[in-house]
Amino acid sequence: MTVIERAPQEPAPQDRAAREPHLEDGAHELVACPDCGLWQRLRRVPRGFRAECRRCRKGLARPHSRTLDVSFALVTAALLVWVPTCVAPFMIVTADGAVRTSALTSGVQGLWAAGFLSLAVLVALFSIVVPWIYLALVACVLAGIRIRPLRQPGSDAPSPLGTLYRWALALRPWAMIEVFLLGACVAYSRMQSVAFVSISTAGWCLIAVTVLLLLLDACLDDRAVWRALPIGRMPQAAAPSRPGAPLPACHVCHLPVPQAGAGDRCPRCQARLVTRKPLSIRRTWSLVLCGFLLYIPANLMPVVSIEQFGRVEPSTILGGVLELLRDGLWPLAAIVFTASITIPLAKLCGLSWNLFLTQRGSARFLVGRTRLHRVVDLVGRWSNIDVFMVSITVALVQFGALTRVRVESGMIAFVAVVIVTMIAARSFDSRLMWDAAGEQA
Ligand SMILES: [Zn+2]
Ligand SMILES: [Zn+2]
Repeated sequence: MTVIERAPQEPAPQDRAAREPHLEDGAHELVACPDCGLWQRLRRVPRGFRAECRRCRKGLARPHSRTLDVSFALVTAALLVWVPTCVAPFMIVTADGAVRTSALTSGVQGLWAAGFLSLAVLVALFSIVVPWIYLALVACVLAGIRIRPLRQPGSDAPSPLGTLYRWALALRPWAMIEVFLLGACVAYSRMQSVAFVSISTAGWCLIAVTVLLLLLDACLDDRAVWRALPIGRMPQAAAPSRPGAPLPACHVCHLPVPQAGAGDRCPRCQARLVTRKPLSIRRTWSLVLCGFLLYIPANLMPVVSIEQFGRVEPSTILGGVLELLRDGLWPLAAIVFTASITIPLAKLCGLSWNLFLTQRGSARFLVGRTRLHRVVDLVGRWSNIDVFMVSITVALVQFGALTRVRVESGMIAFVAVVIVTMIAARSFDSRLMWDAAGEQA
C-alpha cells in the first residue's frame, strides 16, 4: 500500500529545508525514486505497510522498527561463521578406494592449475573475497551507526560511513554466496552418480552463511541506514537548468540535491551527482550487442570435458542439462537450463526491448518495463551456477588417469556473457524511459 505524497518538482530551498531537504518537518522525508526519478515525500510507514513509488511502484521504505539492530546481529553472525567456511574441509569424495578432500578455495586452485587464471580470479572474487568485503562493510556501517550519535548538528563533514555503505551496495550483486551454494548442490548431485560424496564442516557452514545473508537481505532496510547517517554541507550554487529538465538527485541514497552543479558529490554518500547516468543508452546497447555475440560461442563450444579411461568427452551447457535429465535429476536440469540458457538470453532481449522503446520515446507499459528492468538486474547473477558447479567438480574429480574433469574454453565465453549482461543491466538508467515518454507527451 502506498503511503506517500507527490512532491512538487522544485521544492523551495529555504532555511532548514535548503540545508536538509530530505527532512522537511521531521515526519516527512523527500526522496527521488531511483527507478523513475519522481520526487516524493515519504511519511512514517506504519507497521504492516511499505512505501511505494506512486508512479512506478518501486518499494521505497519499510516500517520504522529496530531492523538495524537485528541486521547487525545477523551480519556479525555471518562474519563469525565465514571463518570456518573458508578454512575447514568442504566436501569429501571417495571413488575406487581413492579419497579427495576439497576446501572452499580448491575450485580456485584447480582452475589456476589448469591455466584458466582469469576464471580462477573471478570465482575467487565472487565466492570468497567480495562476500567477505560486503559483510565487513555492512558490519562497519551498522556498528558505526550504533556507536556514533545519529546526527551531529553543525557538522558539515560528510560521514565516511556513507561512502562505506555506498561501496557495500555496489558490491552486493557481485557477492554470490547463495549462487555458489546452488552450484555446489548441483555438483554434489552430479558426483553422487560416480562416487561417494559427503559434505564436511565448511559445507554446513556455507549453508548457515547463506541463510544468514538471505535473512540480512530481507531485514536490512537501506532507507533506515541512510536516514541514520548524517548529511554534510549541501551545495549552495544554484545550477540553472532548462525548465522541465530532471533535477539532480543521488542515484545511490536517493537524496534530492536541487542545487548541485557539475562535479558535485552527494553530501551523504559521496556519490558523483548526475541527473542521469552519462551515455547510458549508447553504453548499454554496446554491452547488449557484445552479449549477443558472446552468447553464441558460450552455447556452442564445450565448457567442460570428462576424461574416463583415456576417452575424452567434451560437453556443452546444453549437454550438461541433458546429462542431468539422463540421471533423473530433472529439478536440477530445470534450474541449470533456466539459469544458464534462458536467463542470459531473456536479459539481453529484455534490455534490447527497453532500449528500443526508450529511443522511440514510447510511453507504453512504463510500469511493466520498469518492473522488467528490476527483474533483469536481479536475476543475472544466478547464471553463474554452472561456473561454480564446474569449479567444484574440477577440484574433486581428479582420480589420476582414470577419471578427470577439465574446463574448456567455452566456459570463458559463458562467464563473459554473464558479466557483460550484469554490467549492461547496471548501466541502463530506467529513469530515461520516463523522461523520454514525458518528452513525447
Ligand atoms: Zn518510481
Ligand atoms: Zn547519496
